[in-house]
Amino acid sequence: MTVSPGEPVVAAYDAVVCDLDGVVYRGPVEVAYAVPSLAAVRRQCPVVFATNNASRTPGQVADQVRALGLEVAADDVRTSAQAGADLLASRFPRGSSVLAVGGPGVGEALRAVGLVPVTEGSVVAVLQGWGAEVSVTDLANASIAIAAGATWVATNLDRTLPTDRGIVPGNGTLVAAVATATGRTPEVVGKPFAPLYRSVADFLGLATGRLLAVGDRLDTDIEGAAAAGMASMWVLTGVDGFVELARSRVTPTYAAADLRGLLRPAPVVRRDGVVWHEGDIHVHVDLASGSVNIVAPQGSPSGTGDDDGSAATRLVAVCARLVTDLRDEASVTADRLASIARQLDGVGRNSTGVVARQ
Ligand SMILES: [Mg+2]
Repeated sequence: MTVSPGEPVVAAYDAVVCDLDGVVYRGPVEVAYAVPSLAAVRRQCPVVFATNNASRTPGQVADQVRALGLEVAADDVRTSAQAGADLLASRFPRGSSVLAVGGPGVGEALRAVGLVPVTEGSVVAVLQGWGAEVSVTDLANASIAIAAGATWVATNLDRTLPTDRGIVPGNGTLVAAVATATGRTPEVVGKPFAPLYRSVADFLGLATGRLLAVGDRLDTDIEGAAAAGMASMWVLTGVDGFVELARSRVTPTYAAADLRGLLRPAPVVRRDGVVWHEGDIHVHVDLASGSVNIVAPQGSPSGTGDDDGSAATRLVAVCARLVTDLRDEASVTADRLASIARQLDGVGRNSTGVVARQ
């Protein structure tokens, strides 16, 4: 997929598949620039929100996004619970009983495809997602059903879940408990596995190659896009920064400070020796000492004078290209690259942030 010079990135795609946490909101706060950018994108193409979090229903997720000021309906949201229910509906007849482990989103997704969610007893399959109320009894019932031969689908394998009280065990941790007990491995539909993204493409009636996936996590959003054959934009408003990019093996199609990057032309980053540059932004790395020197226009990319995100978008693209180039160079040690990436995080993160709701 190539973008014509001067055209915004989004113009090259027929739809955008957008992650939520760390991209649109972080807990109760809106991520800076997210809502106005998505409103502008939606005037050009559909935006579907795809989330690994299976606990809530699409309607509940849509309510949260609407509270931020973006008109979103339940149909604009696809959850990993829905992708899991779709998979099971393709294998088992309507009316089949499925053990539903997780929040309301799991049961509702099963009902919507004609399957019958139950919490114990004889079942053809287990659909396991995260839920705040999931108990040891639920895990026991899942283990017994799986040991008896039930098909096992997990919505996602995120090991942790950030909450306002701190990090708590995510679905992957609870799936691991059942896997340890049964010696079995589930099929997984959520990111970084392809089914969730594919179900969005099916839902839209588009080939995955026509979709652009947007997310903050390299190991789920961006890796999942690659697995599904989709282009990806990595944004720095969530959990991962350049340190994680340095450790990762994935390379996003685009990297941007925030969602304004969708509405900007794709930066064209060039490298001359140890200088990476785009327009008036230059990043020089002293590979011997690991020191980084950034030359960027006055007043940006830290915010002022960069309302359209041009400088922020280009700086992040330059830094991402620099890190992925150096990852592949044997002469650059992992420690040296990590040190360089930490310095870039200090700069790149200044151009992003969250805005509190009034
Ligand atoms: Mg996220």
